[in-house]
Amino acid sequence: MTGARDLSLPREINDPAVIDRAHMFHPGTHLADFASGELPSQIITGGEGIYVTDRDGHRMIDGFAGLWCVNVGYGRTEIADAVHAQMAKLSYYHAYNGNSNEPAIELAGRIAGMIGLDMNHVFYGLSGSDSNETNAKIVWYYHRILGKPEKRKLIARQRSYHGSGVLSGSLTGQPGFHGLFGLPLPEVIHVSAPHHWLDAHPGETERAYSRRLAQELEATILSEGPETVAAFFAEPVVGSGGILPSPEGYWEEVQQVLRRYDVLLVADEVVTGFGRTGAAFGSHLYGIRPDLMALAKGLSSGYLPLSASVVSDRVWQVLEEGTRQNGPFIHGWTYSAHPVCAAAALANLDIIDREGLIENARDTGAYFQQCLREAFGNHPMVGEVRGVGLLAAVDFVEQRSPRQFFDPARRIGAQVTETARRKGLIVRSMPRIDGIGFAPPLTLTRAEADQIVDIARSATQEIAATL
Ligand SMILES: *Cc1c(COP(=O)(O)O)cnc(C)c1O
Repeated sequence: MTGARDLSLPREINDPAVIDRAHMFHPGTHLADFASGELPSQIITGGEGIYVTDRDGHRMIDGFAGLWCVNVGYGRTEIADAVHAQMAKLSYYHAYNGNSNEPAIELAGRIAGMIGLDMNHVFYGLSGSDSNETNAKIVWYYHRILGKPEKRKLIARQRSYHGSGVLSGSLTGQPGFHGLFGLPLPEVIHVSAPHHWLDAHPGETERAYSRRLAQELEATILSEGPETVAAFFAEPVVGSGGILPSPEGYWEEVQQVLRRYDVLLVADEVVTGFGRTGAAFGSHLYGIRPDLMALAKGLSSGYLPLSASVVSDRVWQVLEEGTRQNGPFIHGWTYSAHPVCAAAALANLDIIDREGLIENARDTGAYFQQCLREAFGNHPMVGEVRGVGLLAAVDFVEQRSPRQFFDPARRIGAQVTETARRKGLIVRSMPRIDGIGFAPPLTLTRAEADQIVDIARSATQEIAATL
């Protein structure tokens, strides 16, 4: 960008904020408000531990770890050193036709070892979205090799997030990703998200609610025709759709239904993988036995882009058989198994192991959850506080009983988020219901947890006082 600047122009035209508005096409952004300046410029220039600093020197706690990916925190020079060393030794080589490189090999063994669950083969990509594209293609290939080409439909859940590509964005269960793009693709069907507080019938237990959702899934499979349903995609904890830990009994009930109709289970662990919930994987937490798994974010803590589709032995055997019949598995990316990204991921996993960050997410996470419940549990503007490990959300309501939500046009969640930011804390406002979400780095200490809760509470108070 610097090269394009005309140094004879006045300084404000060379200002990065001006160039940003003139030339950057930002994802997920109100383009007109950004161009006009109504949406403020937010240029982050540095990061250290759980803090980021913007170009005005405003230092903030990143209570959302970037986009819930910077799990080891910012400024880890040992990852930078590992990347430097690998780049100097071998910056790139492809992985097609049996070619390989040392860091990607070591990392594949390490991922398989961490997951267990008879999941032993790792296909690398660069984003959570592409890992789900890969997973869907593996699902389709699998059923074709088994002589069931009509098994093609993919069931996902409303409020889910599986990415932003043509297919992964179709799997995503949020209307903004669909409408004006003419999605979802016709292969994709959505069923209800599991949110007991919002959707359970009066007096319905979590168990009974889980059973009802499993019945809805079964009814959907039956009405579509089980011979046409290929797979169910789900996050162990719904992430960007609102941070929804699974209700009691949900996975037990759902997995019974899937097995009954030979529907593969794809666990999207892009957020939950590598410790975020206090377990190594959400599948461990809930007793899920996936056929395929999507991993990204925490795999490299966002230091470099890297994702993985992990394949169970049951599916793998069919893929091998497929290539015996048809030749090579023709799918891949130029940057599959990128050695430098793999080196970053290995250094990241070393930190997670050495510093016990999964255990910290469990223990400091439990403390954080308790502090949030104490601070917000009885607040008149709060409907629900929920979460697991270092994932949490607080939902706002206009009135607790009878329950009444805010008019979305008032942007209460966004106002709290903006106020918190001014006070030095980044949290994320959540869709569907006004609320704020937390997903701090897994290095969080109790003192830092206290600070996050204090600022979030004071920002909430400030907005509540204006109502
Ligand atoms: C972020 C996310 C993705 C998509 O990952 P990208 O790297 O943004 O493509 C997929 N699934 C889940 C659960 C996610 O949170």
